[in-house]
Amino acid sequence: MDADQLVAGLNEAQLAAVTATGGPVVVMAGAGSGKTRVLTRRIAWRIATDDTDPTRVLALTFTRKAAGELRHRLRTLGLRDEVAAGTFHGIALVQLRRRWADRNTTPPAILDRRSRFLARAASLGRGVRASDVLAEIDWARARLITPEQYSMAAAEAGRTPPITADQLADVMVRFAQEKRRRRMVDFDDLLELAIRDLQSDPGYAEAVRWRYRHLCVDEFQDVNPLQYELLSHWRGDRPDLFVVGDTNQAIYGWNGAEPDLLATFARREPGATVITLADNYRSSPQVLELAATLSDGPGLVAHRPDGPRPSVTAYPDDKAEAVGVAERIREARRVAGSWSDQAVLVRTNAQLLLIEQTLNDLGVPARHRAGAGPLASPEVASLIGQLTSPGVDVADAAAELSAEATMEDAPTSGPEVERRANRAALLRLVNDYLAVDPAPSGPGLAAWLSTLDGNDVADNADAVELTTFHGAKGLEWPVVHVAGLEDGFVPIAYAETGGQKAEERRLFYVAVTRAEQELHLSWAAARTFTNRPVGREVSPLLAGPAAAISRLGVAPAHRVDWRAKIAASRQRLADAPPPSSARGRRRAAQPAFASAAADDPAAEQRAYQALRQWRQRRARASDVPVHVVLSDRTLRSLARARPTNRAALAAIDGIGPSKLSRYGDDLINLLNAPAEHA
Ligand code: ATP
Ligand code: MG
Repeated sequence: MDADQLVAGLNEAQLAAVTATGGPVVVMAGAGSGKTRVLTRRIAWRIATDDTDPTRVLALTFTRKAAGELRHRLRTLGLRDEVAAGTFHGIALVQLRRRWADRNTTPPAILDRRSRFLARAASLGRGVRASDVLAEIDWARARLITPEQYSMAAAEAGRTPPITADQLADVMVRFAQEKRRRRMVDFDDLLELAIRDLQSDPGYAEAVRWRYRHLCVDEFQDVNPLQYELLSHWRGDRPDLFVVGDTNQAIYGWNGAEPDLLATFARREPGATVITLADNYRSSPQVLELAATLSDGPGLVAHRPDGPRPSVTAYPDDKAEAVGVAERIREARRVAGSWSDQAVLVRTNAQLLLIEQTLNDLGVPARHRAGAGPLASPEVASLIGQLTSPGVDVADAAAELSAEATMEDAPTSGPEVERRANRAALLRLVNDYLAVDPAPSGPGLAAWLSTLDGNDVADNADAVELTTFHGAKGLEWPVVHVAGLEDGFVPIAYAETGGQKAEERRLFYVAVTRAEQELHLSWAAARTFTNRPVGREVSPLLAGPAAAISRLGVAPAHRVDWRAKIAASRQRLADAPPPSSARGRRRAAQPAFASAAADDPAAEQRAYQALRQWRQRRARASDVPVHVVLSDRTLRSLARARPTNRAALAAIDGIGPSKLSRYGDDLINLLNAPAEHA
């Protein structure tokens, strides 16, 4: 594309961002305002005007999926694979491998089963999940917090580590030692090692900075201090840095991201050009009106034509919701055209399974990107084997495979279409790798592939996309279904602090702003987690969007009134017999408002221990961290009050309606059976 074409159709602020020269540039703007568009156009425009050599550009983002989106957009602008685009980890790994090769050091192995490794390296104590401990270690490392600093930093940040802060600091040290001893590295080690090399070897740092002279970062609100540190080393003292982001879409705070690095960018960068974009080019005015209720600051000016009124539907249970979503998808397809114009977004990965199964049962093709992707298919695995075996010239081999692919006849069978799509996906990944590694090699490719989530390889089949709110960031679809809008999912049960709850609201904002035309929201009044359905409450965050929808006019004709069905389903839940133990029956016979326990420290202590053990079992059974079940604070309140009936239980801080319906019976039985835990 020529330079004029590249800037045609941009608004004034976008044009300023694309063509700004000189110092650092920061673009801060809401969803769908064209930030990613501006970033990719700027790269293409600078190349087209001979200002920039494409091989000197490095475009960074945070997830494989987002990096894929960047590369896809660069390709549609006519840039083949000469621009390097990747995640911080992916790029760091390529550089480290070169360095190891240059120095003839055997590269360390990438540690991919970290939980198991940690559990073996450090004795965590019974009932402590290694993955919880790892999450906390990752948070600390993302924030550049050393084991010595951990205790204080964690207290300041209001963290609730799964073991004591001192123990955690200890485990951090042991985990690092054990990795070193076994010569293994995890993803954060890649960033730390890359920083160390750049710091300790000025000549090498100069060479790296020369190679990538133009740095740009998409979704900058999600950068964490460790990544920022690496970025600063990559950049050195050169001014050329272009970042775009939206603090309203900061959703990785729990992971250690620091949105302030975006908010205060201009303050840290004297002479920075600051650009804000106020127009939205993605969504209908109706979608934007709804989204505005979930974000801070001024709303965006809509540029797309009117769309239908967004809908909210309550279903009696999760199965009915999945069926309802499938029906909506079919309805919308009559208008929208292809399946891939639609996506179903949910808060947690686990919710995707039921939806995927239901869509499959009902003949709606769906792609679930969090599962085993095409890289897992035997044919692709064998191609990877070929490409990465010793002595193979990766670039040549990939070129040969591509040439073969173009000479083949169009596939006729379904499996063959799929096989080809998988191979094409692999070839795209290989090209991505060739673009970032100046001296490609089989092991280098293998390492690059190992940094993939394994789930986000584009698969060409026409299918509805199923993904989480996190996975949907930066993407867009004409029709979006957001399902499972219940308290406990949105916000997620373990969001307790104001900061965590605010992040949940931003996450919901990210989800709804993916929609271009149609937006359908839904929730289920009952949901089965293990084997018994439990009652669910509508998400408190739905209040604003629902009000916005009613402002938009009368209900659409096709909306089903589920109220009666919900009432019936609630009744069924209430009528369900209590657990068939003797204790259960004894409890049921208690007077409705029995008084709370008297002051008895020994009984309180016993109750607390029993509650902890119970929580441990529940957490294991549902495969969630313990604090998702109930917080320590709630356990202590429970142990103190030892409520004997539901009304008293509901009065305990931390026991909301959903916890009450899920755990009520269990807790009352447990707290009123002294023989059990004496
Ligand atoms: P997010 O915050 O969700 O990542 P974003 O700010 O990166 O959003 P883009 O994805 O770049 O927004 O743009 C949203 C949509 O609007 C895209 O389909 C893009 O092509 C389109 N778009 C952006 N700017 C314009 C414009 N000036 N004219 C027409 N379409 C535009
Ligand atoms: Mg974007």
